[in-house]
Amino acid sequence: KVRVRFAPSPTGGLHLGGVRTALFNYLFARHNGGTFVLRIEDTDQTRFVEGAEAYIQDCLTWCGIEPDESPLHGGEYGPYRQSERKENYRYYAEQLVADGYAYYAFDTAEELETQRNLQPNFKYSHENRTQLRNSLSLPATEVQRLIAEGHPYVIRIKMPVGETIGFEDMIRGVVSFDSSLVDDKVLLKADGMPTYHLAVVVDDYQMDITHVFRGEEWLPSAPVHILLWEYLGWRGSMPHWAHLPLILKPDGNGKLSKRDGDRLGFPVYAMNWQDPKTGDLTRGFREMGFLPEAFVNMLALLGWNDGSDQELFFRDELISKFSVDRISKAGAKFDFEKAKWFNHEWIKQSEDEVLLPQLSDVLAEHGVLDVDRAYLSNVLPLVKERLTFLSDFWEQASYFFRQPDSYDLASVQPKWTAEKTAFFAEMITKLENFEPWHSAELESFYKLAIQASGMKVGELMLPFRIMLVGGKFGPHVFDIAALLGREETVARMKKGLE
Ligand code: GLU
Repeated sequence: KVRVRFAPSPTGGLHLGGVRTALFNYLFARHNGGTFVLRIEDTDQTRFVEGAEAYIQDCLTWCGIEPDESPLHGGEYGPYRQSERKENYRYYAEQLVADGYAYYAFDTAEELETQRNLQPNFKYSHENRTQLRNSLSLPATEVQRLIAEGHPYVIRIKMPVGETIGFEDMIRGVVSFDSSLVDDKVLLKADGMPTYHLAVVVDDYQMDITHVFRGEEWLPSAPVHILLWEYLGWRGSMPHWAHLPLILKPDGNGKLSKRDGDRLGFPVYAMNWQDPKTGDLTRGFREMGFLPEAFVNMLALLGWNDGSDQELFFRDELISKFSVDRISKAGAKFDFEKAKWFNHEWIKQSEDEVLLPQLSDVLAEHGVLDVDRAYLSNVLPLVKERLTFLSDFWEQASYFFRQPDSYDLASVQPKWTAEKTAFFAEMITKLENFEPWHSAELESFYKLAIQASGMKVGELMLPFRIMLVGGKFGPHVFDIAALLGREETVARMKKGLE
């Protein structure tokens, strides 16, 4: 039975690379009828950020990739926060020491600092461990004394020398490492908390995780994890690994980082994130006006495709078509223009019913409250094709809800004549009694009147549009007049003539 996990550390906003990792885990789980677990990796107290866990959960909910087991949903393998599984890890760390795979290290922070000052590339490893203060270099009695007296210590893995550590990555094929080049990573810290390396292995084992999808940045840690699976005697239960390709900057030059968003003018977080300490706000896709379906569709194609040219996928299709062999090894360039295209397409294909409540919110943000739903649903089809973001609705359609706040006079004034004023004054009187108030009838009536006046169609259409809308944009002008209604249309024409 497939069990996968998304294991973020609650250190701040969720980068789109993080959401993509969650999504691929989710798609793989759903495709295989498996279970998708959210585990919060909060063992590094110094990086813990208040509110980040709730934010992560909210992001997953917004994207519609709800975990089956998590701190919020519970489950048989809980607790799902590493800080609540603390005791567990010490037990295994001690077992590794007893079996000779790990050792106690007593070096103080100052001592290590001195080493780093002497050697900028200092690594705690087989090359120097005998000259440092640990249970491999000190006599056993000294080790016992230090522990008995309560000297702080960490537990480090004892990396073997000259071994090749290999595994089969589902995306990359066989990957191998030279164990001599890997340092003796800390497994248990002086405060009794495990490091990520120990916790991730113990939890993946205890939670029966079968497949691990995580970012490529974790590949260098893989040899440590593989040795731990082996040293703990669990190698037979080790999950299959897949290290997902990096998400690159739009120009392909390096990894897309958290800082790039504001610099390059687009969001990199799923939702707005406000740092509780500094109060700084980082923008998110949600608040920018992305539909979750569009965001998820766009993410799914960052490093995956179904082998065809298809780009728009419903959720169910993503689930049924997802396969690991179509995940690419190469980094995926993030293209914000493409992301906008996805949103535009998704708005076009979304049911009006789904969009209406969100459009009411857009109007409310601009102070337009209590809009009649039937009226709103008549406006939507007229402008739907023009929306990249739902928030564009205001720019594209605000004149349906209030008089234009400015007029493009430059386009009409230079060619204005007394004859035109007379035409509009007469048109106003006629429209006050015109029936039926429908687009097609209005159009033929208006055009006949133009013919009778002897003026050109274009000369009298544009001013009409500008009176109603304020500018040279928008859908068919008689559709607009029909929707606005007689009273409002006539009122705007009168105002326009002033
Ligand atoms: N806690 C790690 C992170 O923040 C998880 C890495 C992994 O999935 O093994 O990304």
